Amino acid sequence: MLSYQHAYHAGNFADVHKHLTLFAVTDHLLRKKSPVTYIDTHAGRGLYPLAANETAKLQEYREGVARLWQARERLDDDTLLSDWLCAVARVQSRETGLDHYPGSPWWLVERLRPQDRLMLFELHSGEHGHLVRQALPDNVQCIHGDGLEGLVKRLPVPTPRLCVLVDPSYELKTEYAEVAEAVLQAMRKARHGVMLVWYPLLPAGRHLELLEGLREGGVRKVWRSELRLREPQEGERGMIGSGMLVINPPWGLDERLGASMERILPLLGEASRHRGDWLAGE
Ligand code: SAM
Repeated sequence: MLSYQHAYHAGNFADVHKHLTLFAVTDHLLRKKSPVTYIDTHAGRGLYPLAANETAKLQEYREGVARLWQARERLDDDTLLSDWLCAVARVQSRETGLDHYPGSPWWLVERLRPQDRLMLFELHSGEHGHLVRQALPDNVQCIHGDGLEGLVKRLPVPTPRLCVLVDPSYELKTEYAEVAEAVLQAMRKARHGVMLVWYPLLPAGRHLELLEGLREGGVRKVWRSELRLREPQEGERGMIGSGMLVINPPWGLDERLGASMERILPLLGEASRHRGDWLAGE
């Protein structure tokens, strides 16, 4: 029984971190003409009106995308941030206000060229319903099903290049090990694919099981980006940071994304820190 709905968290600091990383990766992929298959294993509903009941309840976007949006004129010397904010501007219903936040399907559709393909997996029937009601191009396939199983089954893909986003809700503790196993299987079938994996930083450090699983499984070329908002307080259980792994990152991604992350830290809070390093080398 799935209870997580991303609408409650849309546009929060973790979404900013995840979608900025995704945007930086796809920016590099667009530099070559050869077709790319994109696979989003946990798509969510695609586009989030900030006034919707779920999003308005917690308003997490105020500590996330809204901080960058308010500072956008000061960020326009960083091309990654300014291009990303221009893309955010394209989904707003008015010229100046921030009233929508785009989810990963939107970020991928935005980058899709006629020669590319996109598969969007979503298991929750309500979220899948939202997704299919959106106007999507013909080269997008929405699949109501398990994204980890679906990913492994559909590899290898016929296009020369592959880019995968794995972004589970980690509602169950077992998901950390399941994600590691699925990523290892996927990398065996598509060794040169670019794979992005999101994980939460919790005081309990559950993500270490995922990282250890990948390291033990022998995955190479894994760049890690971790955004930590603060150190946990006594007894705290909620998310204190966001992690992204990029397997087979495009050349130069580490420096470009690292610089943009450093740039936004002061907007996200005094105690926030970014760490960019290699979890596994060549
Ligand atoms: N990737 C989205 C974005 O960036 O906008 C957010 C995804 S949200 C963190 C996780 C989504 O995965 C939820 O919509 C949930 O219903 C869905 N989900 C949970 N388990 C799944 C599974 N095994 N396969 C596919 N989707 C799943």
